Amino acid sequence: MTYETICKINKLTIITAVLMSLAACGESQQNDSTAQAIHERVMTIDSHVDISSDYTYEPEFDPGQMTDMKVDLPKMEKGGLDAAFFVVYVGQTARTEENYAAAKKDAVRKFEAIHRMTDDLYSDQIGLARGPDEARRIYKEGRKVAIIAIENGYVIGKDITLVEDYYNRGARYMTLAHNGHNDICDSAQPKEKFGDSPAEHGGVSAFGEQVIAEMNRVGMMVDISHVSKDCMMQAVTLSRAPAIASHSGVRTLADHPRNLDDGQMKFLADHGGVMQLVAYTGFIKIDPVRSAAFEALMKEVAALHDLAEDDYENLEKMPEWKQGLLEIDKKFPIATVREFVDHVDYAVKLIGIDHVGVSSDFDGGGGITGWNDASESLNITEELVARGYSEQDIAKIWGGNLLRVWAEVDKVAATISAK
Ligand SMILES: [Zn+2]
Repeated sequence: MTYETICKINKLTIITAVLMSLAACGESQQNDSTAQAIHERVMTIDSHVDISSDYTYEPEFDPGQMTDMKVDLPKMEKGGLDAAFFVVYVGQTARTEENYAAAKKDAVRKFEAIHRMTDDLYSDQIGLARGPDEARRIYKEGRKVAIIAIENGYVIGKDITLVEDYYNRGARYMTLAHNGHNDICDSAQPKEKFGDSPAEHGGVSAFGEQVIAEMNRVGMMVDISHVSKDCMMQAVTLSRAPAIASHSGVRTLADHPRNLDDGQMKFLADHGGVMQLVAYTGFIKIDPVRSAAFEALMKEVAALHDLAEDDYENLEKMPEWKQGLLEIDKKFPIATVREFVDHVDYAVKLIGIDHVGVSSDFDGGGGITGWNDASESLNITEELVARGYSEQDIAKIWGGNLLRVWAEVDKVAATISAK
């Protein structure tokens, strides 16, 4: 054997050994069943994250920096949160022509702010997904995924053409109503100050029926969080595609009018939909004393700054609000990850693993001990692993189910346009 041959054999042995150890390493990574490893392998989606009107326009709302917001790019990175539905939220006001125009303007500004993040400022870090396949592609590229959603169908006023307009701007689900009835349907929480009766439309209005049909046509998911039970049941029936509850809790565990009872949950699931449990203390556990303290603070800060009592967006900017909330949280502890995952467990047992997901409602009042911003997202996976959920189950809960529903909504839209 020549020296050269020995060298060749050695080289080959080394290469083979390296390849074998690499393969073994890949295999052991796949077999690593720690919560951390599972969390890294599954695509994690938060289906409801609010943004400010000043989002991306003011330094304190610059998502590329560590900010006071509960979701920004550094926190998503740290917490292994891969994707979020960024919500164009517009609060309900009195239904006047002037207010419809203002609602649209507010909505458009928020759409533009999200596009500024994904198209201009941080396109290297986060991409806007317009469909479920695109969401998975961006994720595989190693970038974060942004999806746009609308909270409160009020932003279309009485102009049905705005459904397609907002779809073209990127909106992929629309919560039909918020607090207070609108022209589409009844809210779970009517607003007396706008003259709301308990049930203005008895569920979905005639205009609302057209809106749902238009959402089906363009491919926008119908979101039934916040709406009355009648509206919810009718909307799920009317929609030709499965619906979602983008951020709702289990009413049996927390008797809030905005949570879903067992019958509603089953109805949603029977129609192929998905319920995204929400990490918002008030919808996880009922604490009347805490709620009273919260109401009192809201009234006090609103009066101090001449704001509407439910103008959370501006209230949240006020130092008295921030301080007051800290004190309330100290006196009446917010919910924990365990209490939140109790809702997940309940839903999985009642309606099955294929119909359950999670949402934070961050920067819209959401946040609990252990998942108080996006950087703590691993804690959810840890709790799920501790309760015996498999990786496959966890992938479904963290967004797999929601992507499936989104794909079905797209399919229905394609069928309608093919006709
Ligand atoms: Zn909400």
